[in-house]
Amino acid sequence: MSRIHIIATGGTIAMAQDSTAGGAVLSLSGSDFVQRMMGPETPGLPNLTHEEYGPLPSSHFTVEHLWGLRERVSAAVNDPDVDGVVITHGTDSLEETAYLLDLTVPSDKPMCVTGAMRIASQPGYEGIANLIAAVRAASSTAARGLGALVVLNDEIHSARDVTKMHTQSLATFSSPSWGPIGRVEAERVVITRRVERDIIVCDHLEPRVYLFKLAVGMDADLVQPAIGLGARGIVVETFGGGRVPPWWLDAIKAAMDATVGVAVTTRCPTGRLYDPYRYEGAYHDLQDLGCLFGHELNGQKTRLRLMAALSLASDLHELAEIWYAGTG
Ligand code: ASP
Repeated sequence: MSRIHIIATGGTIAMAQDSTAGGAVLSLSGSDFVQRMMGPETPGLPNLTHEEYGPLPSSHFTVEHLWGLRERVSAAVNDPDVDGVVITHGTDSLEETAYLLDLTVPSDKPMCVTGAMRIASQPGYEGIANLIAAVRAASSTAARGLGALVVLNDEIHSARDVTKMHTQSLATFSSPSWGPIGRVEAERVVITRRVERDIIVCDHLEPRVYLFKLAVGMDADLVQPAIGLGARGIVVETFGGGRVPPWWLDAIKAAMDATVGVAVTTRCPTGRLYDPYRYEGAYHDLQDLGCLFGHELNGQKTRLRLMAALSLASDLHELAEIWYAGTG
């Protein structure tokens, strides 16, 4: 029988109402999860082991927490007795943890991240159902080689595509560009689309990477202070297929002159970067400047990829080589 290791990190899935605190607080541990999963309604579960990490609301994660969790997951998948790992996590930054695992843990064993939108003391709490689905996905041979997966609401999403779409809905996770890659149907795990992995092997993340989202008419005055504070990278969520106002070109150039890596993505929820224009600030200007293109990765994931690439690069030339190695 296979063995799945659960790493419990906190989040709403582990929270319940506490009258003294006057709201929901962390209250379920890994062993509570395992106990609640077992029963006549859940036949065929694998052997389960568990450990705690945190626990934390996911908005409290630092880059060190994130990397520390990555190290725990990596150790678990490298254990020959473990067939897959499930991480219970707050939904707020869940997609970032999942993406980091996908990007930096090269194992073929499934790494499934799950959470919940309702607290455990609320009617309709979906945490245990999500956890059971994640355990089933993690123990499925069909899920091997697909990297990190996000499993909620019986849907299986690739970490690269998925994002939190809604502040309250149970169906908050979706992959707006390409849809889920599979589903958990009772005890069956169905994978309908296989994704190719993009891996950067590194041993830490460069933390000094800042994310700027463009809005109409926004000045670029905060780029220089970021450089002054020691930024090693900046990510710009540009307009549409990759366009910035002309005055952002100078700021981007100043960042690069100071050996700060600049990656660009789009503020649109879906789609790759490209445009045919030759007006100032459009795609070709960003390309000519040597910006790194995040394409379909959203801003927060582009930032993580830049943090990983920067940890290996000693100059911007090397950074570009690492950035584009193995990608289109
Ligand atoms: N409080 C939460 C978090 O830790 C939100 C959630 O889990 O849904 O992200």
